[in-house]
Amino acid sequence: MTQRQGLESGHPFPNCYAPELLVLSRGRGVWLEDRAGKRYLDFAGGIAVNALGYGRRDLARIACAQMKRLPHVSNLFASEPALELARRMAASGGFQAVQFLNSGSEANETALKYARLYAGRKKGAGCARLLCFSGGFHGRTMGALSVTPTPKYQEPFQPLIPEVEVGIYNDTEDLKRRLGPRFAGVIVEVIQGEGGLETMSPEFASALNRLCRDYDVILIADEVQTGLSRTGTFYASQAVGLKPDIITLAKPLAGGLPLAAALLPEKVNSLIHVGEHGTTFGGGPVTTAVGLRVWKILSQRAFIERVRARGEFLRRLLEELKARHPGLGEARGRGLLQGIAVPAAGAAGERMPELLAALREEGLLALRSGLNILRLAPPLVISEAEIRRGMEILSRVLARF
Ligand code: PMP
Repeated sequence: MTQRQGLESGHPFPNCYAPELLVLSRGRGVWLEDRAGKRYLDFAGGIAVNALGYGRRDLARIACAQMKRLPHVSNLFASEPALELARRMAASGGFQAVQFLNSGSEANETALKYARLYAGRKKGAGCARLLCFSGGFHGRTMGALSVTPTPKYQEPFQPLIPEVEVGIYNDTEDLKRRLGPRFAGVIVEVIQGEGGLETMSPEFASALNRLCRDYDVILIADEVQTGLSRTGTFYASQAVGLKPDIITLAKPLAGGLPLAAALLPEKVNSLIHVGEHGTTFGGGPVTTAVGLRVWKILSQRAFIERVRARGEFLRRLLEELKARHPGLGEARGRGLLQGIAVPAAGAAGERMPELLAALREEGLLALRSGLNILRLAPPLVISEAEIRRGMEILSRVLARF
């Protein structure tokens, strides 16, 4: 079987997709198979979505049963799975309410809207500013895009929403200079999943906590990629002491089905009126029934500890890899969201697609983060042997790079 048979170059998707796409047809555990039968070890996890891996009969059974019983109710009604999941989610951090949405972008969109609603009603007009940070990624819808300050993503879609300011990530002095009472919200990632896996310092976290409290600004932690145990704590915020008012979640929440959420505190929820925000599909019975099962698994202490141990194992192998390949930069990230800077030499970014294609050819799927960080985000159920296997492929490919 040649690699070419698994690839599709005449696809009918818009030109924002890569010209050539690998066509995947099935999966089991942490392994995927393309339409030509070639197998891949999955260190991409559907961009950090597939936490429990592939071929989960329990999730399939739940989705199928709920689909037969009742597939949709809309936000005019409730369903038992949505109620139970929301109650559990709210209890995970003293939140009062959970707004279900359909994507990470929409969850962040919601958080930004509620930050402005809160500021408008609590502090009055003229307090609508939003602060985001260099290297942050919060989504592609107009509001989420406006706080994603990467020219490639923003430039074609100007003008964006007004009153957005960009601070320097992890720069506490810059933060102190910028933030003030005229801000409604701050949105930030604890590990910048798309922005090169930069990790928030505890000092920056504590400055964010303090300043947002002093100025009554809503602190939003975008845990769309880092949340639900991926980084070795249930929320990445816990590892650095960040105390967000709102947490946004999405990727792994419903085992591959589209489900997102914004977790809301009492102080925000108490100011929201009926009908001011909503979504037709968000938190439907099928996605939340599956989500409930996923939540129960991902929130178990033993599961989280296992992810942390696997993450430490992965870090050890990344350090060994770095020792063997002197061109590599530092390993970064945490848990099972880690990466390493690949050979720089100016044009680092330009070689990343070539490296990812070479890995794919050898049967390993991985991701890019920022310009030159190779990002590894396998399903959280990966074994040490499978991690070792992937790192061997990576080492072999890097040797000829
Ligand atoms: N926030 C973060 C941190 C993300 O990593 C992503 C997606 N990569 C998003 C938001 C946007 O999520 P979605 O693609 O589901 O809209």
